[in-house]
Amino acid sequence: MNLEKIEETVQNFINSLPVGVALVAAAKTRSAEEVQVAVRAGVKILGYNYVQEAEQIHAVIGRQAQWHLIGHLQRNKAKRAVRLFDLIETLDSLDLAQLLNNLCAESSGVMPVFIEVNSGREPNKTGVLPEAVPALVEAVSALKNIRVQGLMTMGPFPEPAEALRPFFKETRKLFDQIAQARLPGVEMRYLSMGMSDSYLVAIEEGANIVRIGTKLFGPR
Ligand SMILES: *Cc1c(COP(=O)(O)O)cnc(C)c1O
Repeated sequence: MNLEKIEETVQNFINSLPVGVALVAAAKTRSAEEVQVAVRAGVKILGYNYVQEAEQIHAVIGRQAQWHLIGHLQRNKAKRAVRLFDLIETLDSLDLAQLLNNLCAESSGVMPVFIEVNSGREPNKTGVLPEAVPALVEAVSALKNIRVQGLMTMGPFPEPAEALRPFFKETRKLFDQIAQARLPGVEMRYLSMGMSDSYLVAIEEGANIVRIGTKLFGPR
């Protein structure tokens, strides 16, 4: 897509979202120019899979948007991730939680995080198995410098969107269950589910954050 088309597409997409559903623009592989246009058109949150790519674009865009990490975080990138991101959507182990907590404590900051749920129970995928999520949330709730604010899931793919519904449904159930437990320091506010092909189903199943790339910027 050319820049004008991106601008128009982003504006239309934002206007089409139901009230209360936030957009994370999944911006991997897009140029700084493309991202700048999307931000000018109304994108408030940028999602990146890799720390290094986010740093390159951050050097151009800076604080015009908020920054979410939506890809798996390697331990050796955690320090840079804490410096750059406003929220980490992909926390998936207590080990990583403790590392992030220590790094945030050094700068007296508090990092909001989502737990990434491996809702498809796929052996080679990142994320925590659904049955292990409550215990992880409880353990993380004891850490003072990170704060659980929700869940994120990808679901298996490629699949037709409708086939993802059961995975979104299960993640939503888990979300409600954890919210009802009212753990101190845990605020279950956000459910991040759905991509270009599946966001409508995800919203029907309770997503209030959708992560969209292709539908905003065109094919990668
Ligand atoms: C790329 C990506 C998306 C968006 O995918 P599209 O199909 O391009 O909308 C969403 N979430 C994550 C984690 C991604 O890596």
